[in-house]
Amino acid sequence: MTFESPIFELRQVSRTFGQVSALTDVSVMIHAQERVALLGPSGAGKSTLLNLLNGAIAPTAGEVRILGHEVRRLSPRQLRQVQRHIGRVYQQHHLVTNLSVIHNLNAGNLGRWPLWKAALSLVWPQEVATAAKALAQVGIPEKLYARTDRLSGGQQQRVALARVLVQDPIAILADEPIASVDPARSQELMNLLRDLCERTGKTLVVSLHDVAVARSHCDRILGLRQGRIAFDLPTAQVTDAHIRDLYVL
Ligand code: ADP
Ligand code: MG
Repeated sequence: MTFESPIFELRQVSRTFGQVSALTDVSVMIHAQERVALLGPSGAGKSTLLNLLNGAIAPTAGEVRILGHEVRRLSPRQLRQVQRHIGRVYQQHHLVTNLSVIHNLNAGNLGRWPLWKAALSLVWPQEVATAAKALAQVGIPEKLYARTDRLSGGQQQRVALARVLVQDPIAILADEPIASVDPARSQELMNLLRDLCERTGKTLVVSLHDVAVARSHCDRILGLRQGRIAFDLPTAQVTDAHIRDLYVL
């Protein structure tokens, strides 16, 4: 599926939680196949922004458009349909570890399948070929019927990525996907994520702590500080001074 219009569009968006302003007056457009890193200190609003981008939360002011649809105008059912096109990767992979890999991969289909098929898949895996292909793409084809809790941490992360591939979204949102892994594995995981997005033409928005990883894996960096956009630039134009200003107390 291709989209001429922006994949994501925020116009003067603010989001508060009680007295706390998590995001203030954020305007941003993200187009198809861009790879955008969100950088900023803890509490800057990265997760809030990602949650707005898939409609998990609504803005308290301003307008959020996902694939051209204004989130606040959608019924719950319409919102779910839009959300099927937006995949998420979490720091904790949200896998059901006492089930086999194939069952976890089938979970990527649940938004699309009718209830009977979803229920049946719990007993008898559906669409094995799709799952097998996704698992091959992340480099562990032999683990299709392995129990998920028998896999290493790195392999489980690959399964989480394969599940997103099964979902086949237009965009992938990843919230600090490498925050809890060692440097070698985080390079590997980010390479995989970047290559998968490149190969399949998906848009990527990823929050990161590691500035070097943002530079090496994304073509645009959005710096957030205290809920506001500090800068929004092509990676090549981001200077050390930009980064420093982001993190000064
Ligand atoms: P980041 O992901 O950059 O660390 P967050 O988006 O999680 O930042 O948080 C931004 C601010 O909003 C923080 O001050 C945080 O405490 C607050 N916040 C985020 N989510 C909630 C929530 N559900 N309830 C209350 N405060 C929240
Ligand atoms: Mg966060």
